[in-house]
Amino acid sequence: MTPTIALLAVTALVCVLAGREFLSMRATDAVFPSPGLTAARALSDYFPALKGTPGDTPVYVFSGPKAGGNILITGGAHPNEPAGYITSIVLAETIRVGRGTVIIIPWANASGFTHSDPQEGSPQRFPIDTAGGRRWFRLGSRVTNPVHQWPDPTICVNPMGQTLAGIEARNLNRAYPGKAGGNLTEKVAYGIMQVIGKEKIDLGIDLHESAPEYPVINAIVFHENSADLAATAQMELQAEGLEFRLEASPPNLRGLSHREWGDAAGIKAILLETPNASHGRLKGRPTVELILDGKDKFYEKAARLGRLFVPFGPAGIPLKDRVARHVAGFKAVLAALAELEPDKAVELENLPPAAEIQAKGIGAFLR
Ligand SMILES: [Zn+2]
Repeated sequence: MTPTIALLAVTALVCVLAGREFLSMRATDAVFPSPGLTAARALSDYFPALKGTPGDTPVYVFSGPKAGGNILITGGAHPNEPAGYITSIVLAETIRVGRGTVIIIPWANASGFTHSDPQEGSPQRFPIDTAGGRRWFRLGSRVTNPVHQWPDPTICVNPMGQTLAGIEARNLNRAYPGKAGGNLTEKVAYGIMQVIGKEKIDLGIDLHESAPEYPVINAIVFHENSADLAATAQMELQAEGLEFRLEASPPNLRGLSHREWGDAAGIKAILLETPNASHGRLKGRPTVELILDGKDKFYEKAARLGRLFVPFGPAGIPLKDRVARHVAGFKAVLAALAELEPDKAVELENLPPAAEIQAKGIGAFLR
């Protein structure tokens, strides 16, 4: 009898500990916005149907004293692409706006941060050391949590009528311009469209990462209404020694931010991609080090065999370099906007220089 009770007690303890670990994935990471913050809102303030749902997410507003352009930055549309959301958190914790308005949504698909991709063995979170101590950040899944949106259809038909694999019904970057009465992912996309409309956004920048074997990488993807903007930004970046390729948003690929923000809302739309080995298919063991240091011997070998679209050496492509690239890309797009449409210029203070992020690390720019 006693061994049975002991075994039951141990089982109960394991269940409690594992349950706590599992539920901790649903806790939201902290953001400590800079003193330049002028309003902290939620996506549900723009689309009340999201209130109390796992799709609601913070919206940080930074308005300057002078009128200028209005810019939206989204990170975390894909929660397994850390440079996207870490860049938006770095921006939210550093910038002060002198002219215009910058609106930042760090976790665009908040539900996707509450779980991990099954069968990937990915770490649940990764640390970044700051002057005030170590901070932890979630690594989520590319798609909405199935606990929040289930079941997937066999074939997904997105709001623009594009036919996709069933799982894409939970992919925020296939769900634009969203649907007020749609599934959770479509509601989140609809909410982001409301931000764009109500805040009179002029330019949206969606921050992503892609696998090193994917051709759209180290890229500025642009809606055709933003071709001049993207080309001007690319020249600015080349002058700084940063190579970005230009990729036009395909008109027949529907539901993506760089397509529908431009088509449905008429704003300029840019998507930036950096290379992330931790969500690629050729990677070895997924570890915290792979996320942070971006070193992987299998990607090195693939690069030697000419299978990748970016250089990949023994130094890897660390997260700090990817965040630096995103910040440099953002700055170049802002400079291009000021050049092409001076009345829409946005002036920032305290934007961390990309070279300093590479030299000092991301933690030096987190509060
Ligand atoms: Zn992505």
